[in-house]
Amino acid sequence: MKKLPFVTKEQVEKIAEKYPTPFHIYDEKGIRENAEAVKEAFAWNKGFREFFAVKATPNPYLMSIIQDYDFGFDCSSETELLLSDAVGAGGEHIMYSSNDTPEREFLLAEKLGAYINLDDITMIDKVDKALGGKFPKTMCCRYNPGGVFKLSNGIMDNPGDSKYGMTKDQILEAFRILMGKGVEHFGIHAFLASNTVTNEYYPALAGELFELAVFLKKKTGADITFINLSGGVGIPYWPDEEPNDIHVIGEGVHRKFDEILVPNGLGNVRIFTEMGRFMMGPYGGLVTKAINEKHIYKEYIGVDACACNLMRPAMYGAYHHITVLGKEDAPCDHKYDVTGSLCENNDKFAVDRMLPKIDMGDYLFIHDTGAHGFSMGYNYNGKLWSSELLLKEDGSVQMIRRAETPRDYFATLDCTPYYKKIRFDEVGC
Ligand SMILES: *Cc1c(COP(=O)(O)O)cnc(C)c1O
Repeated sequence: MKKLPFVTKEQVEKIAEKYPTPFHIYDEKGIRENAEAVKEAFAWNKGFREFFAVKATPNPYLMSIIQDYDFGFDCSSETELLLSDAVGAGGEHIMYSSNDTPEREFLLAEKLGAYINLDDITMIDKVDKALGGKFPKTMCCRYNPGGVFKLSNGIMDNPGDSKYGMTKDQILEAFRILMGKGVEHFGIHAFLASNTVTNEYYPALAGELFELAVFLKKKTGADITFINLSGGVGIPYWPDEEPNDIHVIGEGVHRKFDEILVPNGLGNVRIFTEMGRFMMGPYGGLVTKAINEKHIYKEYIGVDACACNLMRPAMYGAYHHITVLGKEDAPCDHKYDVTGSLCENNDKFAVDRMLPKIDMGDYLFIHDTGAHGFSMGYNYNGKLWSSELLLKEDGSVQMIRRAETPRDYFATLDCTPYYKKIRFDEVGC
């Protein structure tokens, strides 16, 4: 399938007059239509709730769009909890799914009334200490089945190698200890594979977790009130990938629910999800301008964004589709490496990519940066964070985060005498 951007060259030219490139831009219409589809796909489950994984796109304007669907937020750090609190989420709209957790972070999670999801059995003592022995009425435990996780098209991931969750014996023991400490209601959670572009993942995971719920209920008598399928539902980064159908996924989970939970008296269990990538990924793009070209042993196009603005290609060799705006229908008859300016040779958005002929000043739209894009940014080489823009449903554009300036970069040095000598004026900030 041909991948087309949600903005045109003409739109981007106008936007760039006001907000210089590079910037990440998000498509409100796409976010809303997808959120609606997620809600419908799980409407069969009365207590269903999606907790958007804040780490994917931690912007309060986007988070507040998500709130219109009565969705909540999955947080794994104090800062993400603060952000969720700032947009008015609390209580049953926050899931605290952290790992390697500092003790004091449980305090804020508890204060906000969040569901606390324990990554490990040793966290029980930490929560005990942090909260002075007073446990919330509801607690969740994260499961890791070990081994490899397979679907019909092969091995998806390797839980046995992953740092998350508890073994089956540990989760059983954790339930018993927590019940002894007065916890009344329980949830279970697992995240077994990332970016799964198949409708089979959630139903297969649900099957495993539902069986585990039946086992834990039989062994302990615990009241299991929710099952959290976590994230991992993927998106088609490549043009030839078949996108997931969230309705088929929802129905697949429904079937397992009817097969396993209902006959075991667990028909009231609420299904929770913590999707990040699926909720935002396709509805964001990184817009960057071609500013240099170089012809040596290969052909290079230098753009004004770099891996600090989008780390996935450099970090995992991830594919992100690129459209040269205004040349959507031109033949892809030039082979380029599209690079940023970091002093790192892996700072390439594309390697040996066939694209239309690129002229200096062309705008490139790097697709699918709406999740794990901006948020994975960093400041290496003194590079600054870009702005984030929202293309609203009425076609207007709102800046939802300004670009960083050198003053922001140096702000943490304001405790030193050198700070006073930095020539901010000369770079116009
Ligand atoms: C990252 C993460 C998610 C979201 O994952 P996606 O692949 O973006 O859907 C959900 N839950 C937990 C605990 C995570 O760490």
